[in-house]
Amino acid sequence: MSPDAIVIGAGHNGLVAAARLGQAGRKVLVLEAEDRPGGLLGEAGGLRVAAMPAGLNPEISRTLALHRHGLRYGKPMTTIALGAGAPVRIDGGRVAGVDAATAAAHAALHRRLARQAGALGRMLLKTPPRLRDGGIADLIALGRMGLSVRMLGKADMRDLLRIVLSNVWDLLNDEMGDGPLAGALAMDATLGGAMGPRSPGTVLALLYRMAGQGAGAPGQRAMPQGGPEALIGALVKAVEASGGAVRTGALVERILLGDDRVEGVRLAGGEELRAPLVLSNAHPRRTLVDLLGVAGIDAEDARRARVMATEGMVARLDFTLSALPEVAGLTSADLGERLVVAPDMQVIETAFNAAKYRELPARPALECTFVPGEPPRLSVSAQFVPCTLKAGWTKASRDRLAASVLAVLEEAMPGIGARVTGTEIATPADIEARFGLPGGHWHHGEFRVDQMLMLRPFGGAAQYRMPVAGLYLCGAGAHPGGDISGAPGWNAAGQALKDGRAAK
Ligand SMILES: Cc1cc2nc3c(=O)[nH]c(=O)nc-3n(C[C@H](O)[C@H](O)[C@H](O)COP(=O)(O)OP(=O)(O)OC[C@H]3O[C@@H](n4cnc5c(N)ncnc54)[C@H](O)[C@@H]3O)c2cc1C
Repeated sequence: MSPDAIVIGAGHNGLVAAARLGQAGRKVLVLEAEDRPGGLLGEAGGLRVAAMPAGLNPEISRTLALHRHGLRYGKPMTTIALGAGAPVRIDGGRVAGVDAATAAAHAALHRRLARQAGALGRMLLKTPPRLRDGGIADLIALGRMGLSVRMLGKADMRDLLRIVLSNVWDLLNDEMGDGPLAGALAMDATLGGAMGPRSPGTVLALLYRMAGQGAGAPGQRAMPQGGPEALIGALVKAVEASGGAVRTGALVERILLGDDRVEGVRLAGGEELRAPLVLSNAHPRRTLVDLLGVAGIDAEDARRARVMATEGMVARLDFTLSALPEVAGLTSADLGERLVVAPDMQVIETAFNAAKYRELPARPALECTFVPGEPPRLSVSAQFVPCTLKAGWTKASRDRLAASVLAVLEEAMPGIGARVTGTEIATPADIEARFGLPGGHWHHGEFRVDQMLMLRPFGGAAQYRMPVAGLYLCGAGAHPGGDISGAPGWNAAGQALKDGRAAK
C-alpha cells in the first residue's frame, strides 16, 4: 500500500515531521540516503557533526511523548570559557570566574536578553505570515508577532528595537567589556554563520539562539542521557509507534510531478514510490534545483534557490586521545561540559576576517567537549573555516587547519597535543559532499536578516510550501533555522496537515 506521505531525509527534523504526521493518522515513509537516521546529529561513519544538541523544543518533546521512547535530558550543560586566565563558568545568567561587577553586568544583560528572546520564542513554532498575497490569517499572525514584542513593555520593546539589527560586539563592549565571557557569548551569536561579532544582525542571531534552547535556562545546551543517539532513537520510535517507517540507504534522486502537483519520488536505482504529500528535509537548493528540477518551477524561484547565501564556515575535528588531559581549573566532570576557546571577541572577529576572503584563520575560535570512552575523544567545532577555500582543500590546507586548531587548544590545555593519537577532519566541503548539503552550512542556509522568518529560505517560500502543490520543506533551511530544535520539521508537518484539511 502506498504511504500517505513521504519524507526525504531522516535528519532530526525529517523524523519530527514524520512523527507529527503519524500522530495525525498519516502513514509515513521516511527515506534516508545514509545507512543510519539522524542526519548531522549522531555518529555517521566515524564522524559526528552536531556534537552538542541545543535540545529539542520542549513542546515538541511533550506532544510526541518522547519520554515514553526513552528520551531524558541530563543537567543543562555549563559553558566553560577558557582563555589565558582562570576558566569562566556560565550557567545561563550565572557566571563564576569574573569580578563581581562583570558578573552583575552579565546577569542584568542576560535577564534583559532572555525577556526579549522570549518574545521571539513565541514565533518559533508558528508558520511565518505571508507578506505578499496574504489573507486575513496572515494579517492576524503578523499582528500577533507585533503584539508579542509590544507585550515586553515600553522599555524592553524600545531596547529590543534599538539593538535588534545591531552587532554583538558593540552590545557586549558597552555592557561588560571584552574578554572570555564576551567571547563565549559572541560565539553563541556567530557559531554556524558567516558573520563576525561586528556584523550587523548578530544580536538578533544571539536572541534566536537563546529563544531556541530546549532545556535549562536560555542559552544553555542540553545533552540527552545516552548522547545524541538517544534522541535519534526516541524520534525513530515515535515515527514507528505511529505506524510509520524509516528506510535507510534510500537516496532520493528525483521528486516526481504529475498534473502540477507532487506524485512521489524516484530513488537512485530507479524505484518509484508514490504519495500525494512529500516533505523534504534536504537543503532548499537541493530540494528545488536538484530533486524537483528547475523545469518544474518558476524561473524566479529557481534563481532565489540558486543565489541564497549558504557558505558554511564551521569545520568539525575529532581528536582521538591516549587519555583525558588534566586542565588547570577543571575537574574531570568539567571535561564533558561545553568548552569555548575564544579568549575574546577580537579573536573571533579576526578569524572571520580571514574567512570572508576565503582564507584559513591563523587562530580559529573553538567550541568543544570531551567524549568519554575507550579511547576518549575531543570533539571540536572550529570557526571560521570557509567551504570554498581560495587555495582549495588539499592535504596541505587540511594539515594547516588541524595544526591551527591544535595550537589554540594547546594554549588552553597545555599538553593536549602530545595525547592526540588520531585526527578526523570534516571541512564544510566534506560535509557538503557527504550529506548533499550545499555549503556544508550549519543552518542549511545563512541565518541572517534577509533569510529569516518571512524570508526563510527566501521570499514567497516561507510557509514551508514549495512552489509545487503537495511539496513542503521540513529541514533547517525553513523557519526557524538550524540547531537541534525540531521546530522546522514540526511546523512543516503542521502546515501540510492544515493545507490538507483546507483542501477537503
Ligand atoms: C559542523 C557543524 C556542527 C554542528 N554542531 C551542532 C551542535 O553542536 N549543536 C546543534 O544544536 N547543532 C549543531 N549543528 C547544526 C545542526 O547539525 C543542524 O542545524 C541540524 O542537523 C539540521 O537538522 P535537519 O534535520 O534539518 O537536517 P540534517 O541533519 O542535515 O538532515 C538532513 C538529512 O537528509 C538526508 N538527505 C539529504 N538529501 C537526501 C536525498 N536526496 N535522499 C535521501 N536523504 C537525503 C541527509 O542524508 C540527512 O540525513 C552543527 C552543524 C554543523 C555543520
